[in-house]
Amino acid sequence: MLKEKQAIRERLASRLDRRERKEALDDPHAHREPRPCGLTIHPGRGCTFSCVYCYIEDMGIPREPRRHGLSGTQLAYAVASNPYTLLGRHGTFLAFGSVTEPFLPSIKERTVEYLEAVSRSLGNPTQFSTKAYLQEDDARILAAIDPQISALVTVPALTWARRLEPGAPSPELRFRTLENLLKFGIHSSLFLRPLIPGVSEVDGPPILERAADIGVRGVVMGALRVTTRILRRLEAMGLSGLKDRIVRQPRSPDDQVPLNTGDLKRMLSHMARKLGLRVFPSACSANVDSHGLGCRMCDMGPCGENLPEYDPEELEQALSGLGIEVRIVPRGEGILALIKGGSKKARRVKHLVSTATKRMVRVRKLA
Ligand code: SF4
Repeated sequence: MLKEKQAIRERLASRLDRRERKEALDDPHAHREPRPCGLTIHPGRGCTFSCVYCYIEDMGIPREPRRHGLSGTQLAYAVASNPYTLLGRHGTFLAFGSVTEPFLPSIKERTVEYLEAVSRSLGNPTQFSTKAYLQEDDARILAAIDPQISALVTVPALTWARRLEPGAPSPELRFRTLENLLKFGIHSSLFLRPLIPGVSEVDGPPILERAADIGVRGVVMGALRVTTRILRRLEAMGLSGLKDRIVRQPRSPDDQVPLNTGDLKRMLSHMARKLGLRVFPSACSANVDSHGLGCRMCDMGPCGENLPEYDPEELEQALSGLGIEVRIVPRGEGILALIKGGSKKARRVKHLVSTATKRMVRVRKLA
């Protein structure tokens, strides 16, 4: 996989001039560590949907959407240059969204350009999340770019939607997005996130029923994370008792703290299963399912069946080619990696070995 990564990187480099290569290498996509659900791809920043629970402004990102500056080839080159990524079908999970809505009118073209570049040049398992209304033509284009792409359509509220998501398409339009994606065979899941106490008890069940009627594959649920500002906004809307569910005190006004919504998740998961929906433990789990893969990288799994085989010696040799001395010790379902080096090397080993093997990896430094 490392050889293949190098070959892809060289191919992409040959299509860029010196300035374009430098821009790509200076870009965060070339450096950022993947999150648990994979490397987030940002076709833009900012969002006009103005969701009350949104944290991007607290991250210092202006609401006014701006397309990301890199071209598709530059973006692919940046991802191929990232020291933590692997490429191809068994490579790093990629997730579009996060700090923007990828299908806002001003961002959409960039999103499609990046999806095309990723699919054509890298081939990684790719997922996007959206609240946009995607028409049949959009779904046709997405299916043509990557027939195995994993789609998450976010619908956390019905009766509360207008107040919580004043600038977003209505839930009805988002259900139509799901219908359109499914029409073109796209693996589509309901993103019931965030779970909001006082809202999800009321709106969650009918959302699940509607999703099941439409024929979606499954549901991903996720906890609400609040900053002090988000908490104030939600309380001003009459939602009470949120403070009691905070798992720890915020360390600063911008610190995002999850709420304990385990009871809501259990109740809604039970209902989802009764309706015949798969309950994916995490967004990446839907990505794994959509690509027919297997993964045991974290204890939220196991997800999927098709775990890749691995050879400890081959892993050691491959990493030694990167100047990393490592001993790979299979431990039950997981792997212990013993390394010589500092914490940056340890993080790199963890990402590369866990991605290649899809096993949980613990890294210990050799004295
Ligand atoms: S085991 Fe499942 S939830 Fe955990 S990283 Fe893998 S796909 Fe994601």
